[in-house]
Amino acid sequence: MYDIIIVGAGPAGASAALFTAKAGKKTLVIDSDKSITKRAWIENHYGVMEITGPDLVEIGKKQAAKFGAEIIEDKVVNIAKTDAGFRVEAEKSSFEAQQVILATGVLVDLAEKAGLKTKPGTEPRIKTVFDVDAEGKTNIDGIWAAGTAAGVSVHSIITAGDGAKVAINVISQLNGERYVDHDVLKS
Ligand SMILES: Cc1cc2nc3c(=O)[nH]c(=O)nc-3n(C[C@H](O)[C@H](O)[C@H](O)COP(=O)(O)OP(=O)(O)OC[C@H]3O[C@@H](n4cnc5c(N)ncnc54)[C@H](O)[C@@H]3O)c2cc1C
Repeated sequence: MYDIIIVGAGPAGASAALFTAKAGKKTLVIDSDKSITKRAWIENHYGVMEITGPDLVEIGKKQAAKFGAEIIEDKVVNIAKTDAGFRVEAEKSSFEAQQVILATGVLVDLAEKAGLKTKPGTEPRIKTVFDVDAEGKTNIDGIWAAGTAAGVSVHSIITAGDGAKVAINVISQLNGERYVDHDVLKS
């Protein structure tokens, strides 16, 4: 039983996993290796002079793994409600979690089977997104969405930031108080 399963390991998903794993939450990331970020050359990501999309994605996964997130390659095909939370069904195996974050980029095909509401996208070339509130909550309590799949501007710093935002909201809900993760520079 995982605390949190994150579907998608692009900037939104890996950033969310970095926060949830660093907060001590048992985190599994399931990714189908179809990130649009892998086609990008990025010079507008704050704090990074320039980076290839594939490098950004690999570093993001390594950061999340450093804090204990498990990352596997598989395609999630359904999310079903259980007594304790959710069963996340992928092509090769199934996993259970209390909370689920969808960071699936341009792909929202999970919505219909899982009973998740969608709405038209507002960003260029993004047709459909999960219908989320300002915190990232979908219409199903315990399932959240972040990044491109949640309708934010399609830029790596924004999708990564949205993944972090939603992760902090999930951690705060699980802890019962607002969560902050600040490491202090040693003098
Ligand atoms: C050609 C190109 C150039 C770009 N240039 C820039 C740029 O210069 N600057 C900039 O800021 N942004 C740029 N971007 C945009 C940027 O890459 C995206 O905004 C951002 O990276 C998207 O992040 P994401 O995590 O939301 O989605 P993605 O990176 O697409 O990640 C989504 C992940 O979810 C996985 N997934 C989806 N469905 C499932 C499923 N059912 N089961 C398991 N896994 C699943 C996918 O395999 C994928 O790995 C560019 C994009 C493109 C295509």
